[in-house]
Amino acid sequence: MSSLQEAVQGNLQAVHERITKAARVAGRDPQSVRLLAVSKTFPAEVVLAAVAAGQRAFGENYVQEAADKIQRLRELTDARPEWHFIGPIQSNKTRTIAELFDWVQSVDRLKTAQRLAEQRPADRPPLNVLVQVNISGEASKSGVEPAALDGLAREVARLPRLKLRGLMAIPEPEADETRRRAPLAAMRILFERLRAGGLPLDTLSMGMSADLEDAVLEGSTMVRIGTAIFGERERRKQ
Ligand SMILES: *Cc1c(COP(=O)(O)O)cnc(C)c1O
Repeated sequence: MSSLQEAVQGNLQAVHERITKAARVAGRDPQSVRLLAVSKTFPAEVVLAAVAAGQRAFGENYVQEAADKIQRLRELTDARPEWHFIGPIQSNKTRTIAELFDWVQSVDRLKTAQRLAEQRPADRPPLNVLVQVNISGEASKSGVEPAALDGLAREVARLPRLKLRGLMAIPEPEADETRRRAPLAAMRILFERLRAGGLPLDTLSMGMSADLEDAVLEGSTMVRIGTAIFGERERRKQ
């Protein structure tokens, strides 16, 4: 086994142990929390090491980088991992996203959802969609405001070729546990409210390397983990 393979496999195992431990504390089934490996900035060879260790779902933030990586991975393996787009969506990139990805977690405008619905190829299964919520309320961040969530979710749920699965959030990092957990708890309330209102949602995507345990305690069903699996990222030149 290569040292890359060993490192990624060991890190994946450690992350699974964190999920299991937090789920036990929360009185939840560890299987109810999916692990999305966030591979942005890491090459296809690193993704391949994670695939070899059994990881099946990967998250990407940049369309062109993801397109190249998905293509390269097809040359490297017959395994067909599930790809999730988790970055900000520019209108001129929706076609590529609709063609290449299995999930899009960062939908925060009806216009974007409409374009994805129009551009999803007819021979692919419906595109799984999460609506991103701006739960920490900073002006600069993407995500729909909580007050506008209900209306947007209902419109997205009606679009053809898309399957609305739930919600995603990226809360502001906080050193203090109480402050970290508040927005996660607020997300769960929004999620349960939509479900109670009749939307058949099954996915609450929250929790990154630094707040995985908090997110599982607050009801996350999908954690998105980059650094704890692949190591620190180089800072990206925009
Ligand atoms: C980069 C990224 C992650 C992973 O963050 P880590 O702290 O490296 O685990 C998760 N979600 C989104 C939306 C990201 O952009």
